[in-house]
Amino acid sequence: MNTATTALLDQAGAAVNHSLRSLAHLAHRLNGTLGHSEPGPISTHILERLHTGLTRGTTGFCTHLSSTAPQPAFWVPWAAGKIRCAPCADRAYQRIKNTREDRKCDRCRRTMVTTNTLGWQLPAVILTLPSGHARSLPPVQVHFALCTPCRQLDRPAA
Ligand SMILES: [Zn+2]
Ligand SMILES: [Zn+2]
Repeated sequence: MNTATTALLDQAGAAVNHSLRSLAHLAHRLNGTLGHSEPGPISTHILERLHTGLTRGTTGFCTHLSSTAPQPAFWVPWAAGKIRCAPCADRAYQRIKNTREDRKCDRCRRTMVTTNTLGWQLPAVILTLPSGHARSLPPVQVHFALCTPCRQLDRPAA
């Protein structure tokens, strides 16, 4: 492995750790828990939307993210066109804060009585191109909110 690839792997690892720390911080702030689990059917469907967006080219990256300098990145289903860096993700949240959108379930679109926030951490991915150069997809945090009935449906099959 060349030194550029090793450096990129180190950087991607640091970005993943940074992202996990911020997710733990968020979980703590929301009185939630951080753990390893299989996504339930609704989380899986939302994560598949990200995959489909990337595959079809309808989801891109904000201009601050670089494939040679991985940093924590964010994607939300209600603004699905971009994977964003932290400041751009924050701006997206500020745009909907205290709006009706902020209270909508990301699955059924009904106004939520109780908001159940979910966050998933996707790992960074390193690709080695035919040229021998390595590129990275950043670690992506996916955040969304479900109403209580949809949250119940999201339990993984026992
Ligand atoms: Zn950005
Ligand atoms: Zn719902």
